[in-house]
Amino acid sequence: MGRIVLENVTKSFGSTEVIPPLNLTIEDGEFAVFVGPSGCGKSTLLRVIAGLEDATSGKVLIDDEDVTEISPSKRGLAMVFQTYALYPHMSVRKNIAFPMRMAGMSEEEQEKRITAAANSLNLTDYLDRKPGQLSGGQRQRVAIGRAIVRDPSAFLFDEPLSNLDAALRVGMRLEITEMHERMKTTMIYVTHDQVEAMTMANKIVVLQAGVIEQVGSPLELYHRPRNKFVAGFIGSPK
Ligand code: ADP
Ligand code: MG
Repeated sequence: MGRIVLENVTKSFGSTEVIPPLNLTIEDGEFAVFVGPSGCGKSTLLRVIAGLEDATSGKVLIDDEDVTEISPSKRGLAMVFQTYALYPHMSVRKNIAFPMRMAGMSEEEQEKRITAAANSLNLTDYLDRKPGQLSGGQRQRVAIGRAIVRDPSAFLFDEPLSNLDAALRVGMRLEITEMHERMKTTMIYVTHDQVEAMTMANKIVVLQAGVIEQVGSPLELYHRPRNKFVAGFIGSPK
């Protein structure tokens, strides 16, 4: 399960409204991409869904439950950031285990999940290393592993690949879309990169200044962009 609904969500910082009233539904199992220029409110929206920022008004629902007042750790979501946010002094194994340890999971179950995550992310040989001994791509895999073991109802990615070089980025895109095909878990992926949006999404949400310009599949946006902004941003010929 992982249906996410935003009802009239707004967000202001002081007197500046960065998200005017916004309504959006992400269906269970969708791969949704929030795309738009830098500063348009993608991260803010993701953080409101995660509970890392409070909505100024409106509601966030997960599987029909109103989670607006519920703390981030109780929302059943896992977030992966651009900067990995790994603990440098802990081994890969301990980094991946961290959220499970915090949740009080048994050692046996932790080990089972670590093994499965390491297998699917090609990290088996790196479990005893520290993050500093890994490449950027491997570090991002550890961050994804730490998200997977929590068995979240949805994954939230905030520009997870923008610190990687171009070649690695292409490979990691494939890994994330394969992971989605395998797990069928809802994913919301934030990027300012049109190519990433067009190649990864089932549903693209185009944002400009906190406003949804259009929601649709990559093909719909390409063939029927609603306005010049969407056409220009998506690279549609219209
Ligand atoms: P994006 O992720 O699309 O680049 P952000 O969501 O980070 O955009 O930012 C949207 C707007 O909100 C920007 O104008 C940014 O400066 C502002 N903003 C974001 N976080 C804060 C904050 N904690 N305090 C004040 N303004 C913020
Ligand atoms: Mg951002």
